[in-house]
Amino acid sequence: MAHRKPLVAGNWKMNGSRDTATALLAGLRERAGAGAPFGGRVDCLVCPPYPYLDLARATLEGSGVALGAQNVASQRPGAFTGEVDAGMLLDFGCSHVIVGHSERRALFGETDEIVAAKVARALEAGLTPVACVGETLAEREAGQTEAVLARQLAALVPAIAAAAAGAVIVAYEPVWAIGTGETASPEIAQQAHSFIRTRLSAGGVASAAAVRLLYGGSVKPDNALTLFSQPYIDGGLIGGASLVAGDFASICEAAVSAAQGSA
Ligand code: PEP
Repeated sequence: MAHRKPLVAGNWKMNGSRDTATALLAGLRERAGAGAPFGGRVDCLVCPPYPYLDLARATLEGSGVALGAQNVASQRPGAFTGEVDAGMLLDFGCSHVIVGHSERRALFGETDEIVAAKVARALEAGLTPVACVGETLAEREAGQTEAVLARQLAALVPAIAAAAAGAVIVAYEPVWAIGTGETASPEIAQQAHSFIRTRLSAGGVASAAAVRLLYGGSVKPDNALTLFSQPYIDGGLIGGASLVAGDFASICEAAVSAAQGSA
């Protein structure tokens, strides 16, 4: 099996202030230690709201903690009021961007095609997209989980297949587990991750084994280790718990432990 270094990514959503962002990042830096974060055994990414990216870049300088945004325009620069271009994110020190989060799909009308266009634009500019997929509770209860994942992935496959190996990260985030405190069982998550990897491969992604698959949905310090110990779960996309430095750091440490356990 290809070695995939775990990644733990924090999605702050629309939360925080200059003061709380500074304190949170300082706390994370302290726990991550000097040199590469957590001994270099896990990649660590934070995705604050746009206005705090520059503050985060400055606060994280030299820490090895990567910086990402939560959204990006699908277009190139031009007359798109209110949008933010991928090149601008690079300019502010971002290496990653979350694309197609379920909140963007459900609340802001992002279709599979829009999400795919954003992934393509991020890649074109040199950013690593963290592309989110996942089913709603109604879809799961109707037995449509795999059909929904297949549809969402089909839109993404051309961009992932054309990109360098591992240049796209996929996050499986069952919508019913996001912000609800209800986590997918490790078995359910592993099953979905296995399905996703198979679909990528079947869709023509030659480097499917190199794609990191994150799990997202109420990951907390007390459930992270069991989830991350599943063979196809390469880390997590963390919402609520990423707003508490100690919790986020503990989740990063769980990813290190899980990787050591499987080595
Ligand atoms: C998310 O927003 O991507 C997420 C997984 O949130 P939470 O961890 O709060 O469920």
